[in-house]
Amino acid sequence: MERLGRTPVNDYHRPVILKSWEGSGMITHSVAEQLRLIDRAVTILTRSTEALLRATSEESLLQDICHIAVDVAGYNLAWVGYPSADATRPVTPVAVAGPDSAYLDEVHINWNDDEDGGGPTGTAIRTGATQIIRDCETDPEFAPWRDVARKYRLRSTISLPLGDDKDRLGALNIYSGDVDSFDSDVIRLLEGLASNVTYGVRALRMKAEHDRAIHGLAESESRYRLLIETSPDAIIVHSHGTILFANPASATVFGAIAADEMVGHPITDLVHEDCPSAAEWRLGCPGPGQNACEFRLRHRDGTPFDAEVISTAIVFHGLSAQLVIIRDVTDRKQVQAQLIQATKLATLGEMAAGLVHELSQPLNIIRMTAEGALLFIERGKATPDWQAQQFQVIADQSQRTAEMIDDIRIFSRRDDSPEQIFDAIAAIRAAIGVFDGQLRPDDIALVADLPSAEILVKGRAIQLEQVVMNLLANAHHALKDKQERHETNGWSGIIRVATEINANRLTITVSDNGPGIPPTLRDRIFEPFFTTKDAGRGTGLGLSVSFSLIAAMGGQLEAVSQPLGACFCITLPVTGSRRTTPASPPEPPPSPADAHIMVVDDERTAGDALAHFLRELGYRVSTSNGGTQAWRLFSKDPADVVITDLRMPAGSGEQLVEQLRDYDPLLPVIIVTGHLGATERLNERLQDDRCAVLKKPVALGKLAGLVAGFLHPPI
Ligand code: ADP
Repeated sequence: MERLGRTPVNDYHRPVILKSWEGSGMITHSVAEQLRLIDRAVTILTRSTEALLRATSEESLLQDICHIAVDVAGYNLAWVGYPSADATRPVTPVAVAGPDSAYLDEVHINWNDDEDGGGPTGTAIRTGATQIIRDCETDPEFAPWRDVARKYRLRSTISLPLGDDKDRLGALNIYSGDVDSFDSDVIRLLEGLASNVTYGVRALRMKAEHDRAIHGLAESESRYRLLIETSPDAIIVHSHGTILFANPASATVFGAIAADEMVGHPITDLVHEDCPSAAEWRLGCPGPGQNACEFRLRHRDGTPFDAEVISTAIVFHGLSAQLVIIRDVTDRKQVQAQLIQATKLATLGEMAAGLVHELSQPLNIIRMTAEGALLFIERGKATPDWQAQQFQVIADQSQRTAEMIDDIRIFSRRDDSPEQIFDAIAAIRAAIGVFDGQLRPDDIALVADLPSAEILVKGRAIQLEQVVMNLLANAHHALKDKQERHETNGWSGIIRVATEINANRLTITVSDNGPGIPPTLRDRIFEPFFTTKDAGRGTGLGLSVSFSLIAAMGGQLEAVSQPLGACFCITLPVTGSRRTTPASPPEPPPSPADAHIMVVDDERTAGDALAHFLRELGYRVSTSNGGTQAWRLFSKDPADVVITDLRMPAGSGEQLVEQLRDYDPLLPVIIVTGHLGATERLNERLQDDRCAVLKKPVALGKLAGLVAGFLHPPI
């Protein structure tokens, strides 16, 4: 154990062996001197306790301690050094007091285990033991600083470590102008001071940390408050269905006078009765999780609106509650619907030339067959069998045009229908049906590998049809481009449509052997208005609209890499599948009865053709050229069934139907229309089994079946 020179002192009971500064032998202090030394150590300890109680910051506490040591206790210099972590590990003074403080500007002190770090401060920090230099003039350990210490008349010093082994804060260093100023009693008292300072620094650091946390909390609270108060979305908190909080935007979204007015009301007041998930709201957790769900909500006056809702569980004033964020998506949906309609019409526009070609084929056959038949009849060559054959050709070709028109009608109409479970395969077939004719003139083959069973998915059939049409149109363009660029030696264009079911997901692939999508464009093709096509050929909306339609059905649309050409994959969740049952043979219409049928059509030839047919079946038939005349006739001679067109200059069919229904709500009415969209609208309004809507061109057999069914309903 070291006894001479710098002495580590931690053991309070160990006797301090003092050595004279001349190095000639031990000296002992007089009792008075001893008491003076102890007195000033006690003073510093007492005053430091007061400083501790007053301290508001770590810096001021350390500065106060140093001042007390110098100004009150009469030491020459006091400073606190903190160890720095950089390469040379210097000790940085953080508080200093005393007339000799310039001493610190002239010395280098670090806490390395080397000569510069071997002084009392460095060693105290490194080892955690109090260090004493009894005489700066003689202690060999103090050699590096001796000359400077002599200049400032510093003769003895103590370095007290602050902190502990786990958290070394630094060292408190006190210098005296006298030799041997720190005996064991003084050391014990000053070590008490060091532990007070350590305690004070830690307490102040904790307080500063706490103040920072409180400040941060207040800041983040005000930030979130601002966010909630200025959010354009309604933010509502409810517990077990009772609204506890509503932000100002809630009043705007729901049309309340003030958001506070909503507090206390049941959350189900916000849900429209049509909302299929009203029960979820009653249970208090609409759209759980981070994903937004769509709901039909209601304004204060009862009008419905579509909203996107995200709900999260929170604790609100100690209650378990749900935070619900509600966004009115009415405008967005309208814009989306317009965009969808615009792309559909653009696709139809692009298809117009192909459609004309497709329709002209059956019409051509009908015309030639009819004119040929007229000639044969004129010349008396038409046998009844031959005539029947010719009419069959005409009927078949009419059916072919009817199917084409039907597909286009379905595709081009606005789709406001609610989500349904539908057969994805039928939707794909319908899209292929509309498209197939487009490809033939360009010598492009469409190969479809589709299952015979139904695959049921949830969404809107027309939208899936539209997506498949968009993909087919893109493939068609790509293949035509390739042809136009004469890259087609020994090559023929093929579009393949295939499906696969895996883990309850249906994958529909539409691929082609065209030029493919360059990797640099693959990320951009789904962006709205991105197109590589010439002006007038591409809108750049097809893929972006398709992407959002499939996403709305809970699926994905992606472009996948393949060695040749492009390949697009639609993945949809499957809700079920069913074997298709073969269509049952049509039941023969019951025998005609002596019933009165009224036919209303402004196109005389069409009305007469229908009337002839019905008379031939044995019905009594009256005809009118419009709604006004029909109502007049009906008032005098009521009919058993009315068959009417819709758009007629002499009184509209819709008005006539209303008059007839007012007269007899159970009167059977058959509406025959070629008006796009009217079919769906009327179906909604006249949803009963006494009304049927047929699309032009009409299949007479089907019409006869309907009339018979109305007149002789199955028992
Ligand atoms: P548009 O067809 O009006 O350009 P889309 O959004 O449907 O808009 O397509 C964006 C772009 O994606 C096209 O311009 C084309 O560059 C690329 N693309 C789409 N389908 C194919 C395909 N089958 N082969 C090659 N490129 C394609």
